[in-house]
Amino acid sequence: MVKDYGYDEVLLHDNPTLNLVYVSDAYEGMKAVEKEKIYAFVSSLAVSSYQLRTHSFSNLKISGELDTKIRLGFAVRKEDFMLFNILEKSLNSISAQHKKEIYDKWVSVNIDKIDYSLFLKIFITLLLVLSFFAYRHKMALNYNNKLLLMNKELEDLNAKLQELSQTDQLTQISNRRHLDITLAKEIKRALRHNTSLCIILIDIDFFKRINDTYGHQKGDEVLISIANILKNNSRDTDVVGRWGGEEFLIILSQIDIIQATEMAEKLRKKIRNYNFDFKETITASFGVTQYMHDKDDESSLLSRVDANLYEAKDAGRDKIISS
Ligand code: GH3
Ligand code: MG
Ligand code: MG
Repeated sequence: MVKDYGYDEVLLHDNPTLNLVYVSDAYEGMKAVEKEKIYAFVSSLAVSSYQLRTHSFSNLKISGELDTKIRLGFAVRKEDFMLFNILEKSLNSISAQHKKEIYDKWVSVNIDKIDYSLFLKIFITLLLVLSFFAYRHKMALNYNNKLLLMNKELEDLNAKLQELSQTDQLTQISNRRHLDITLAKEIKRALRHNTSLCIILIDIDFFKRINDTYGHQKGDEVLISIANILKNNSRDTDVVGRWGGEEFLIILSQIDIIQATEMAEKLRKKIRNYNFDFKETITASFGVTQYMHDKDDESSLLSRVDANLYEAKDAGRDKIISS
């Protein structure tokens, strides 16, 4: 503030920690604000607005008013009574309207108070917008997680369905449908890569008698046991399935008829020696054959294995015929 202006007492009284810097006149003070040497310049509104107008401090603004009002007045020496009267008369002759015009001309300025309520409004709006997006994001994440979970369930269900569609319900080995599909596939593969392919058809001997003697339930158990024997004694690459009733088919890729016959022999013995929970020995008859690349199709291959199986039955059962 300007030195000796006398506002400092008022200011320091209300704000004792103020760091006051004194300048010699208003121009110097406002220049110092402009050059950012001081934070603010305190002066009367009349002086500040006059300086703003006359020196075009376009980058400065009057930012507020002090609560303290300072009244300014004329003073004349006591003995100058005449002068006092003249001044009184002159001042009284100025109409209120005229006073206002003078005031508006020299003093009236816009005071740019910072509108904190606007900041608050912007802040609250931003907060609302941000909250909305955060909520949306969270919802989207939730949905995504749910979707992932549902997808996983669907995949599991699909896998289960696939498994079910190719599994025989009673024995839990491949069903007829899966055997048909696999056989067609394996024939194509054997043709393409010129590899060997064999099949074994197995029919349980006198199975009707087991059912008749021990009941259908026991018959089912025998079917399950025999399916397990076949499955547990074949390679992982072999496909073991239930061809129908008490008949089973094994598809063996990349082995020849000698190896396939050995395999049938091993299975024949396993079945014959298996201890079922009743006294009877159960046997099965086997037909074995190998795919002939230049002659066979699916049906001729199956006819041959079927013929071999019936030959095994005719030969007295518990036999293997391979050709
Ligand atoms: P063969 O030695 O000539 O094969 O005599 P077999 O008695 O085994 O032959 P047949 O074809 O006369 O009888 C097969 C029996 O298999 C008849 C049928 O009741 C029985 N069978 C077919 N499917 C099932 C099944 O799922 N469960 C049970 N328990 N029996 C079945
Ligand atoms: Mg049969
Ligand atoms: Mg039979």
